[in-house]
Amino acid sequence: MPDTTRVRFAPSPTGYLHVGGARTALFNWLYARHVGGTFLLRIEDTDKARSTDEHTKVILDGLTWLGLDWDEPPVFQGARVTRHQEVADKLLAEGKAYLDAGTIRLRVPAGEIAWDDAVHGRISFQGEDIKDFVILRSDRSPLYNFAVVVDDIDMRITHVLRGDDHISNTPKQIAVYRAVGAALPVFGHVPMIAGPDGKKLSKRHGATAVGDYQHLGILPAAMRNFLALLGWSPGGDREIMTLDEMVHLFSLEGIQKKSAIFDMTKLEWMNGQYLSASSADELYPLIAPPLEKLGVNGKRDAVLKAITAVKTRSRTTLDVARQVAARLDPKHVALDEKARREIAQDPAGYKASLEASVAALRGAEWTPAALERQLRELAAERGVPPGKVFQPIRIALTGGTVSEPVNELLYVVGKEAALGRLEAAVRAS
Ligand code: GLU
Repeated sequence: MPDTTRVRFAPSPTGYLHVGGARTALFNWLYARHVGGTFLLRIEDTDKARSTDEHTKVILDGLTWLGLDWDEPPVFQGARVTRHQEVADKLLAEGKAYLDAGTIRLRVPAGEIAWDDAVHGRISFQGEDIKDFVILRSDRSPLYNFAVVVDDIDMRITHVLRGDDHISNTPKQIAVYRAVGAALPVFGHVPMIAGPDGKKLSKRHGATAVGDYQHLGILPAAMRNFLALLGWSPGGDREIMTLDEMVHLFSLEGIQKKSAIFDMTKLEWMNGQYLSASSADELYPLIAPPLEKLGVNGKRDAVLKAITAVKTRSRTTLDVARQVAARLDPKHVALDEKARREIAQDPAGYKASLEASVAALRGAEWTPAALERQLRELAAERGVPPGKVFQPIRIALTGGTVSEPVNELLYVVGKEAALGRLEAAVRAS
């Protein structure tokens, strides 16, 4: 009976959780869940100078935010140095490694070193081209390519899924497996993530930390769905998927060879889809804190109503919060460039239309249906298309030229507040 599938994500806690790392973690997690295997974490904290507990915490929090869980307590590589030394000493005693100026160096025999990569197919190197390399420094600290293999063997890892940038390490690691006499895992090297210019994703392209996207107002489900599609496709043009669907559809065969492009516009679009599909109640806990930061203390009911009105036209939760703020508090309304230009085309008409609307709305029943009727009647009376009545109200109440239908907008703002704000706009123009 073969061992159950065991995969791992092995971040170095020398920085935040990079979107590339998060994507690698997600692929491993999806694969483990798809096959009913085990997903493990190994914190590669051997670089004592750059590894911190704070980074480890940020990485684990980032994974948790994305909804990824692990099945055993994380393994800390730094705590396993004695084991690394023991294996190196054994290789030395067996003549598979030798002492060189205080270091222990692995002998790399001549001949082919090849593997069937789960993503790229057969990849082959020649032992002759890989020099004998140090596995233990003179201070007895292990080197990366050695520690990784000792740990992967001890953790009974069956599939190593990691970034393309590790392809050149793999022949050295295979040499260690051979020296130790352990079976190779399946290696799968997932494509690099590039910015829109095709160059490796970096800070030049914008935010690269998962935490940054959290603070920008991206929903974890949207981030996860977006990351899943960076280098993997379920086939067809399927894009929006629940977590269960992704688990069900995920396969190593579906991983692409070519690099994946990180497209912020697409992430925001996808986030918009998730915002639309979420209920106001679900979004409330995410909207309340930024709203409070904006100094708006709306009643829960009013906030929920406003969220419902704006969520389908928002790209991020911050976007939702800003729009909710504008509906609950005129302090947060600022005319944007387009709105300014629209008013400038006919300032007198803008003012007259608002005045007529105020007069017509004063006695109106304040429900979306009644408001719609009232405004259409007003447009008919004035002999203008309804849009001519709607648009000045929209601009006066939101400062922008796009929003939910104006009858809903008026309803959300509320009778007294809406009339007061429209009157103020008349006075100001
Ligand atoms: N700590 C390595 C990294 O962050 C892990 C490499 C591996 O997955 O084998 O790149």
